[in-house]
Amino acid sequence: ADAPVAVIGLGLMGQALARTFLEAGHPTTVWNRTAGKADQLVAEGARLAPTVGNAIQAGTLTILCVTDYQVVHELLGASDVELGGTTLVNLTSGDSAQAREAARWAEQRGARYLDGAIMAIPPSIGTPDGVILHSGPQAVFEAHESTLGALGTVTYLGADYGLASLYDVAGLAMMWSVLNAWLQGTALLRTAGVDATTYAPFARRLAVEVAEWLPGYAEQIDNGSFPAEVSALETDVRAMTHLIEESEAVGVNAELPKLIKAMADRAIAAGHGGEQYPVLIEEFSKPRVG
Ligand code: NDP
Repeated sequence: ADAPVAVIGLGLMGQALARTFLEAGHPTTVWNRTAGKADQLVAEGARLAPTVGNAIQAGTLTILCVTDYQVVHELLGASDVELGGTTLVNLTSGDSAQAREAARWAEQRGARYLDGAIMAIPPSIGTPDGVILHSGPQAVFEAHESTLGALGTVTYLGADYGLASLYDVAGLAMMWSVLNAWLQGTALLRTAGVDATTYAPFARRLAVEVAEWLPGYAEQIDNGSFPAEVSALETDVRAMTHLIEESEAVGVNAELPKLIKAMADRAIAAGHGGEQYPVLIEEFSKPRVG
């Protein structure tokens, strides 16, 4: 029979998680602060637990999906919660330090703990696009992999509890960088009457092309060696100057390209002008000083 699961937190995401478990045939117990959010799920076959402690006892696995880690601590700290022998999978978003701390806290109370990061929107849960990253003890992940697999594409990253959160924010950096670059270009082109819809397919093709460079550039970073195979950083910086001057000339915002050029200028000042772009990893890998 399918393993019984509990889902704590029935916000937009928690409801999608609980519904997906139900549809996959798992006996599903739910709990939410606002109990009314469970009504539809109960109509579909879920059991509403009266307390968090009761919900946790009902499942072989408890999913937590609430606003933040502070709420997680509040809920698990309730007097009737007995964590000994339970397995918690915390899919609440937070940072790596919070994940490691929550793991230590839960394990001290006898729970097995996995931290997770949901890289998807609620409608994608239960489909291959429902990407969920997990970190923590491999044996715990493997013991529950088939249950967790009902939620989408589940991936195990490693034993460090903080990895899922780190991948999560790394993904945000990627997402906003691509979007910001596109917005910069769109702002420039609109000054010449080219609308966003016209530019979007060009921008998309460029983003895909640049993404193809990543594996080769990653090798340079891992080897700590940045031979200028296609372009030297000082050539790139001359092009950055064009981008900044063009932005200023047509009256659009030049802050973002100026910020990147300032980083590249520091790398050149440090003697890296003849090396390839990924040498900037050295600027990205330290806090800005001075
Ligand atoms: P919602 O705002 O829809 O739901 C928040 C949930 O947290 C509700 O169940 C809410 O209960 C509960 N909650 C908040 N404060 C308390 C409290 N003090 N005590 C008890 N329960 C509390 O958020 P989502 O469901 O969208 O997101 C949940 C988590 O999933 C977040 O960490 C989010 O970052 C993450 N996530 C969400 C994605 C999305 O697209 N929605 C995508 C990826 C990750 P109540 O109903 O009573 O208010």
